[in-house]
Amino acid sequence: MKQFNKSSKLDHVSYDVRGPVVEEAARMSAQNIRILKLNIGNPAPFGFHAPQEIIEDMQRMLRDAEGYSDSKGIFSARKAIMQYCQLKGIPDVSVDDIYTGNGVSEMISMAMQGLLDAGDEILIPSPDYPLWTACATLAGGVVRHYRCVEENHWYPDLEDIERLITERTKGIVVINPNNPTGVLYPEDVLKGIVDIARRHHLIIFADEIYDRLVYDGKKHIAIASLCPDLFCVNFNGLSKSHRVAGFRSGWMCLSGDKSCAKGYIEGLNMLSAMRLCANVPAQMIIQTALGGIQSVDKLLLPGGRLYEQREIVYNALNRIPGVSAVRPDAAFYIFPKIDVERFGIHDDEQMMLDFLHQKHVLMIPGKGFNWPQPDHFRVVSLPDKDTLTDAMDKLEDFLRTYRQS
Ligand code: PLP
Repeated sequence: MKQFNKSSKLDHVSYDVRGPVVEEAARMSAQNIRILKLNIGNPAPFGFHAPQEIIEDMQRMLRDAEGYSDSKGIFSARKAIMQYCQLKGIPDVSVDDIYTGNGVSEMISMAMQGLLDAGDEILIPSPDYPLWTACATLAGGVVRHYRCVEENHWYPDLEDIERLITERTKGIVVINPNNPTGVLYPEDVLKGIVDIARRHHLIIFADEIYDRLVYDGKKHIAIASLCPDLFCVNFNGLSKSHRVAGFRSGWMCLSGDKSCAKGYIEGLNMLSAMRLCANVPAQMIIQTALGGIQSVDKLLLPGGRLYEQREIVYNALNRIPGVSAVRPDAAFYIFPKIDVERFGIHDDEQMMLDFLHQKHVLMIPGKGFNWPQPDHFRVVSLPDKDTLTDAMDKLEDFLRTYRQS
């Protein structure tokens, strides 16, 4: 019988956050085994709901959202995004430089498809949010992973970045605040990256979807604000800050000196038109979301759910013998290190599978974030305090006797 295989374009694309551990959890769930899912940054199932104002505004405007919009998005949303860029010091962003998308995810795909020819290189952090690597590879690009250094608060290794650059390198991806490490980059680190991009004529792709989820009174600096002379592509959206991941509301905006990117922008306009437009109801809430009081702020303060949950996970992990973790500054992820010698670990995926089988808790191994050693995993700190405490107790108990064969 004729067999339909996946396209060979997908042969080299890895997207392990949907890999064997997640598949096994789905199989177990289908057998009515209750699995605690600490694998995905989806706030709503953990009781983080969208602000009421957003829901009401979307309901009110739904009738007007029946048709396609301008392919880049409705004017009010793009104007609000433009003003947001002004407040963050992201330079030279006009309404025309903004594209709304079905989440940041669609924009990442579009940005990579529009830029990369076979063999073009792009710098992406390791560990990364793996969609970047998958989209760049699918677009035909070659990903060079630059190392982020745990001992240095997971900041990017500037020397490593510099070492990886060739004449085919077109851009550098900066995920700040970072998923999976949860850290926020300070100005000097960002300036170091800008300096490299400037010297090597690289486009900066700044994924800043967690910029409104920063703890401890720290301040997020948009990297584009440090380099008005460079061409940057900035990504942001409402999935996390407004707990509406399911609405698919994100955007991409072009900043700085666009004179070097006329052809690329033409390509982006074409790709934007080819998908007609982003989900219109989700565009209609962008103006409401970005203006006024940000409801997420109180979740980030001591006593707020996100803050307290970060504390619980960070403290619990660091109490487990053989586990250590850097304290996250932002978002709701933590990327702990595990002492591979102590537990004889050579396969992080196997460890997560064994943990899933024994304790019914799902987490993603470092491999899923393009981390090359088997010594990390990511925990999502979205569940409530009791659930997280229980999950960390289970991890401690599991590791008490765990040895990989
Ligand atoms: N970028 C980062 C760093 C993320 O962590 C995520 C989601 O987890 C996304 C982009 C995609 O977000 P969305 O497509 O929901 O806007």
